Amino acid sequence: MASLLCPSSTAKPGAALFGIQDDTGHIQYLEETVIIDQVFVDTARQQVRQPEERFRFASNCAKSGCGHWSLQNSNCGLVGKIVEAMNRQADATLIACAIRTRCRWYDQEGANACANCDEVVRNIRTQEVMA
Ligand code: SF4
Repeated sequence: MASLLCPSSTAKPGAALFGIQDDTGHIQYLEETVIIDQVFVDTARQQVRQPEERFRFASNCAKSGCGHWSLQNSNCGLVGKIVEAMNRQADATLIACAIRTRCRWYDQEGANACANCDEVVRNIRTQEVMA
């Protein structure tokens, strides 16, 4: 089985672009992922707002190579915090997402991960500003 994807990856060549932030700060999910290249990364980094603040990218979950990985639980420690902090209930019908079958967050938290996913960029940004 292919490895699970982190839905909060940085912009790097080979990463899959799967969402774009709209004017309201919510993520609009693409029907299909777009694999980005160095040209995309270089161009996006020339803008004032970094690509991670405007787009969502997925790449292979780094597990213990990531600071969010919980060695104790052997899972991603970030998604549980997001679900708890945002506390939005899952709708009966999930919004379409091109990476769901391989998403680490969905694998761990199911529909609750998706219910709290589309403002992650904005909220992380807000927390950084408020810190
Ligand atoms: S949590 Fe749900 S909506 Fe967010 S990236 Fe994963 S599958 Fe897509």
